[in-house]
Amino acid sequence: MTTNLLDFDAEGLTAWFAQQGEKPFRARQVLRWMHHFGESDFNAMTDIAKSLREKLLATATVSPPPTISDKLSDDGTRKFLFDVGNRNAVETVFIPEDDRGTLCISSQAGCALECAFCSTGRQGFNRNLSTAEIIGQLWQANRALGYAPTSGNCGERVISNVVLMGMGEPLANFDNLVPALRLMLGDNAYGLSRRRVTVSTSGIVPAMDRLAEACPVALAVSLHAPTDGLRDKLVPINRKYPLAELMAACRRYLIHAPRDFITFEYVMLDGVNDSDADARALLHLVRDVPCKFNLIPFNPFPASGFQRSPAERVRRFASILINGGIVTTTRKTRGDDIDAACGQLAGQVQDKSRRIQRTAGAVSGAAARSVGVELHL
Ligand code: SAH
Ligand code: SF4
Repeated sequence: MTTNLLDFDAEGLTAWFAQQGEKPFRARQVLRWMHHFGESDFNAMTDIAKSLREKLLATATVSPPPTISDKLSDDGTRKFLFDVGNRNAVETVFIPEDDRGTLCISSQAGCALECAFCSTGRQGFNRNLSTAEIIGQLWQANRALGYAPTSGNCGERVISNVVLMGMGEPLANFDNLVPALRLMLGDNAYGLSRRRVTVSTSGIVPAMDRLAEACPVALAVSLHAPTDGLRDKLVPINRKYPLAELMAACRRYLIHAPRDFITFEYVMLDGVNDSDADARALLHLVRDVPCKFNLIPFNPFPASGFQRSPAERVRRFASILINGGIVTTTRKTRGDDIDAACGQLAGQVQDKSRRIQRTAGAVSGAAARSVGVELHL
């Protein structure tokens, strides 16, 4: 039985090396080879003693999830499909913009939280991704995308930002998520600033507090409704952690957060949550929480039961928030030609929660899901 070294953050790898009778600096060297240089072959780690390389070859691997497909859109959006075993696959999307390159990664195969407008929720839940499967998406995408040419010698990495907005609820997979986040931030790994790594959550309040302690990165909260009555229906986790508790958790998070605002995501559902009164109620709800809003036009999928708000409605809704003093952006859709736009990601989930049997008229296994693109967080 070999150990996948992508499952460890710096501390974990040092502890594993200690168990093998190896010094901490050896762990640092291997960490750099794996994450800094994207190397998976121990034999290529040339400054490591041959005896240690042989030991690693016998006991360990560097195994990211294998790439099933890699598609490039006309607008530069690139979608990867990764095999996470047992006929499950997750998607990862790279979104290039003028001043940054954002990788949107998945945290679970499926999702157990059943948000009404989300096809990942409709697809059911299989399992949490391991740390290796989470960080492995970044590892693979970095290898595929490489470095942007700059005036200097070595260039900069194309991926400058990471958002946990792919399939799954990252804070429901806390223990595997945190080591992956630490690797994203780590000097001997990806060295991203905390401000450039964003966790998106539907609002699991205790885990938001734990994240603030364990690894405070930028936070996006999927709000989607101004009242408990409506949010209970759209985002059922609200029944457990209602809006007053969620707002209080956002305020607590800001004490540790690397940015001085929370990003609220708000999917625009025609006739459901997009009225002028809803916008005004939002202003009241978030009055004590420094925040920005990111409006997401709903991306329909079969039998969703919802429709996208008309563009004019989205503009009007945004203007009420802006006039109320809140920076508000509207997410654009990109990557349409390769089905990488919001609501078009498929992935593949073998449902273990029997959701599909329970949900009348559920979408097919290849149902679309949503991911954020053009993310001005
Ligand atoms: N589970 C986390 C992160 C993944 S979902 C969360 O819920 O925050 C990323 C974003 O896409 C969330 O804001 C989610 O509400 C939104 N989303 C889900 N389905 C959508 C759809 N069909 N159209 C537009 N946005 C959607
Ligand atoms: Fe899960 Fe997020 Fe989809 Fe809700 S919106 S079902 S939390 S992935």
